[in-house]
Amino acid sequence: MTRTIESDLTTPRTFGHHVAGRSLTGPPLQRFAPATGVLVAEYADGSADDVDAAVRAAYATFGSTRWQRTSAMARAELLDNLAALVAEHQKKLAWLDAQEVGKPYRFALGDLQQGVAHVKQAAAIARTLRGESFTGISPGYSVIADRRPVGVAGLILPWNFPALIALQKLPYALAAGCAVVIKPSEFTSSSALELARLVDAAGFPPGLVNVVTGTGPVVGSALVEHPLVRYVSFTGSTATGRSVLKAAADSVTRVGVELGGKTANVVLADADLEAAAEGVVFGAFANQGESCVASSRLLVDRRVAKEVVAAVIKRVGQLKVGLPDDPHSDLGALIHPHHVEKVVRLVDAGIAAGGELLHGGGAPGEEHLAAGAFYQPTVVGAVDAESPLFQEEVFGPVLSVTTFDDADEAIALANNTPYGLAHSLWTRDVERAFSLSNRLEAGTVWVNTCSDGSPAIPFGGIKGSGFGREAGPEGFNEFTEYRTVQFRTERRQN
Ligand code: NDP
Repeated sequence: MTRTIESDLTTPRTFGHHVAGRSLTGPPLQRFAPATGVLVAEYADGSADDVDAAVRAAYATFGSTRWQRTSAMARAELLDNLAALVAEHQKKLAWLDAQEVGKPYRFALGDLQQGVAHVKQAAAIARTLRGESFTGISPGYSVIADRRPVGVAGLILPWNFPALIALQKLPYALAAGCAVVIKPSEFTSSSALELARLVDAAGFPPGLVNVVTGTGPVVGSALVEHPLVRYVSFTGSTATGRSVLKAAADSVTRVGVELGGKTANVVLADADLEAAAEGVVFGAFANQGESCVASSRLLVDRRVAKEVVAAVIKRVGQLKVGLPDDPHSDLGALIHPHHVEKVVRLVDAGIAAGGELLHGGGAPGEEHLAAGAFYQPTVVGAVDAESPLFQEEVFGPVLSVTTFDDADEAIALANNTPYGLAHSLWTRDVERAFSLSNRLEAGTVWVNTCSDGSPAIPFGGIKGSGFGREAGPEGFNEFTEYRTVQFRTERRQN
């Protein structure tokens, strides 16, 4: 088997926090690779004091004359430098994520390439920044309006796309002129720490981007509660998002919350069934199903269900579960052995509720995977809307299948969960696609595709999937406040 050279990086790596351009040590927090069980990294286990030091460094750098005098055009130049540096180091960053998440390296490399595109997008936004003016209100009264950086922003990251989600937030914050403190997941902190070093190397002032590692209840909470943090961009589960929102209410801090999802792929009888099957399998099993937009529910017209399910199972049977550095792996390990237990529990609950195991279930049999947190791609049929498999986010390689008799039932089923992140609709009928897509409750609706996107397109959810948007101009706006400056050059006439 061909192995990638990056997999030879020395482990375990040791990191301190990244504060004001320096490494700050702390008690070790160990990370074992979920695919092999080997110790790969030791980060510092942060405290509220470490968060305070990082936020104060960010606040001081944000307020410094040097940063306050850095124009948006100059920030764009620095972002260009950062894009070049991330591209130069993308293989190393991808390998850190592959090892710590357990995902195949080739997909981690794809994440980094998307990340570079976000940095370039943010640079383009900074380069073309414009304000507004109000000139017709009354004589001698003119108003200019623009977007000002919020100040210090806290970025709280999940473990499934560590570098990519960092790069969906960080460049937009920098383009806006903010300073940041990043709190990565305790399982996958290496790439955020490496990215912070690259930000400093790109020419941003040390202290503008800081990283504090450690656990959510200690480091994450302290960041949300810190009085100098003016905006928190959180990506994670809906349960944790709720506690972030409650804490932010106490400190009156604005938040953007990108939370869980339960994407439905609605396949109508007139769809290109092979294309739909291909899309469903990609959407459900990419990143081992550990994706907020994972197409975990297939809703299919009863008249074509047999054909679509057969096409899906044929494709699922061809997926290879393997080690992250195996170039043929389609799925890697799940994040943690405890997470495998959660997936097993939900599949068991779905079968106890009347579901029928159509493919997979359990760990793969291969001996070389025995030390890792692996779970086979799994398909469960005859799942009804009350089943936990239909309602709860599995966050693993599990697809449930539910049939419907007409389009109204399909839309009701798709919308029948607490989530509203993304849905897919498969049909050849443009008129139906248009009207039905308007009835799907989600921040993103894909028609004849799934898991698509671009740094130019804002992304985010509704309902239990949260609020706020990332990427594009809306993602930039999240890190700003709208400000007006009002000039009166003639006395007001009473
Ligand atoms: P978690 O909610 O468990 O954790 C997310 C982050 O929050 C981690 O850094 C975690 O720290 C931290 N955290 C935990 N407790 C607190 C707290 N009390 N205050 C502040 N921060 C805290 O999510 P996962 O990491 O398990 O990620 C998976 C989830 O993320 C899924 O639900 C998925 O759908 C969602 N997600 C949503 C996306 C979207 O765009 N809508 C995209 C990607 C994922 P630590 O882990 O160190 O304890």
